Amino acid sequence: MALIVQKFGGSSVADRERIFHVARIVAGTFNEGHRVVVVVSAQGDTTDELLEKAGRISTHPAVRELDMLLATGEQISIALLCMALGELGVRAVSLTGWQAGFRTDRLHTRARIRRLDTERICSELDKNQVVVVAGFQGLDSCEDITTLGRGGSDTSAAALACALGAQRCCIYTDVDGVYTADPRIVPMAHKLEQISFDEMLELAGVGAQVLHGRSVEMARRWGVPLEVLSSIQPGSGTLVTEVCSMEGMQIKSVAVQKNVSVLSVAAAQRSLQPLLAVLSAQAVPVKQVLQCGAGEQQLQAQLLLEDAAAQQAKAALEARFDVLQLQKLEVREDVAFLSLVGSGLGEDAGALPQLLAALSDIGQYPDLITAGEVRISVLIDRSAAAEAVRSVHVAFFENDNENNTV
Ligand code: ASP
Ligand code: MG
Repeated sequence: MALIVQKFGGSSVADRERIFHVARIVAGTFNEGHRVVVVVSAQGDTTDELLEKAGRISTHPAVRELDMLLATGEQISIALLCMALGELGVRAVSLTGWQAGFRTDRLHTRARIRRLDTERICSELDKNQVVVVAGFQGLDSCEDITTLGRGGSDTSAAALACALGAQRCCIYTDVDGVYTADPRIVPMAHKLEQISFDEMLELAGVGAQVLHGRSVEMARRWGVPLEVLSSIQPGSGTLVTEVCSMEGMQIKSVAVQKNVSVLSVAAAQRSLQPLLAVLSAQAVPVKQVLQCGAGEQQLQAQLLLEDAAAQQAKAALEARFDVLQLQKLEVREDVAFLSLVGSGLGEDAGALPQLLAALSDIGQYPDLITAGEVRISVLIDRSAAAEAVRSVHVAFFENDNENNTV
């Protein structure tokens, strides 16, 4: 008898039919004799609709109230799923995030899990029933409701799997695994059987929406394998684990992130430090920093941020324009960040030229390139994003048989 955590995303519980479908998957696992903890997200577009509702009342709602509102979405799902399980003759109990023991810090709308007290879940499991937990939510030290950031239910599931010592954490979603590229953009993309935690973490950070990065981080730390699989099509998905890739199968996937901007700054001083300090004090997340052409007296840099963060950063720096001796502060939104991910990239001197060739084939000449052990990323025009992914996919995954066998 194993303990298995199963997580179902919003689209998997979007309506009555889907909820029953999920209930049958859960019932199947439970009836095989396993202990099952289920984590669910809010139904369909519920979270977006709640945000929209808040927006109709206030342009800047208090984050505490926003969390109070957003947490309701998941609560609907847990109750409905337990009712469906009951209809199938399976005993189940629903728990909110706080009932399940999720304690977080106080950063509303992007809280981090600080502690997970599992006594309640364990005692419910001991009653020989399925436990269904609301993802994405917890309670802070002031007993206020917090949420973990968009897509945070994956992280709730991974945290439960780690804390409970689950044998596996199965993330059911509307795709059946991790692909060599987003199959909606590249029809030739194929599913990966396995991917390493490191590779998955990089992919999650550069626009692959299949898993919340923090869930991968947590699973890696605790050594709990994650499996991404389809809630619609039966069959195996992609396993995210420590051990992976044999030699010759080292480039895994190409992804593109479109919601990024470049903030270009110039200042009459030498160090980027005071600028970055301002951004870090306001917790503005910067994805990449490229400092270019700093002369004795002049600083020029480009910061890559998500669109909203770029506007936040611009406002924060603008407010200190004189103190920071700024000369230029410009946001470019018409960009996209294309990344190639794979553990073999660090040793593959040919990968970058091959990538650049695939891009120049479609008239893209990136002006920002970063290359590391597991990822190469370039900045391209946003309007060329899909075409670029297709071209890079052809170069790396359609011509080369070695990579096709992953
Ligand atoms: N319902 C939340 C969201 O839409 C959390 C999640 O789906 O993981 O972001
Ligand atoms: Mg998700």
